[in-house]
Amino acid sequence: MTDWKALRKNMVDLQIAARGVNDTRVLDTMREVPRHLFVGRGMEASAYGDHALPIGEEQTISQPYMVAIMTVALRLTGEEKILEIGTGSGYQTALLSRLADRVFSVERIETLATRARETLDTLGLTNISILVGDGTIGWKEFAPYDRILVTAGSPAVPTSLLEQLADPGILVIPVGPRTMQQLRIVEKRDGVIEEHDEGGCAFVPLVGKDGWELPTG
Ligand code: SAH
Repeated sequence: MTDWKALRKNMVDLQIAARGVNDTRVLDTMREVPRHLFVGRGMEASAYGDHALPIGEEQTISQPYMVAIMTVALRLTGEEKILEIGTGSGYQTALLSRLADRVFSVERIETLATRARETLDTLGLTNISILVGDGTIGWKEFAPYDRILVTAGSPAVPTSLLEQLADPGILVIPVGPRTMQQLRIVEKRDGVIEEHDEGGCAFVPLVGKDGWELPTG
């Protein structure tokens, strides 16, 4: 029988901690959340590899190291209300739900949202709300959010997300051309916005009103 716990420990030790990530809350949570339940059936054995994986609908579950980098950048204490754009498999959502108080997650593709909901329910994670829709306009009803995480690549920071970010607040979003981005960290404090880039990344496109258009043909 597969020792999933050992695979997770190796993933965290060799791909994440060994590359300099030392946030123990994030590392411990990644040692616990069963990533193999979030990948497609038949791909469980690859779930702990050092790469992204397809989850259907031309979308991907992000590489574990990238998930760790983004999660650390949010600097979570356990108190936060988070808005996540791009539920995808729900793996990142599960981590956030363990590391913060409440997670609101928006996914534009209904089949992915439904599958993510099922997996998250199986794990008994109850502090998560999922909306099917265009996350580039945020989720106004529950704003403001202490943290906002976008897990798809955007041409620019969507205005609505900046508006729905609390003060103080942190927004993490891949920004750049369609196929390669920089991971941008945006901080709001006392009405002032400060931004810096944390390095290159490659996410599927954020598709919507304030994102990219769907490719035609
Ligand atoms: N965190 C996810 C990443 C999924 S990939 C995981 O690790 O599984 C990015 C997701 O963003 C895809 O599921 C895609 O459908 C979704 N997405 C793209 N544009 C979106 C938009 N405007 N609103 C909500 N979700 C969007």
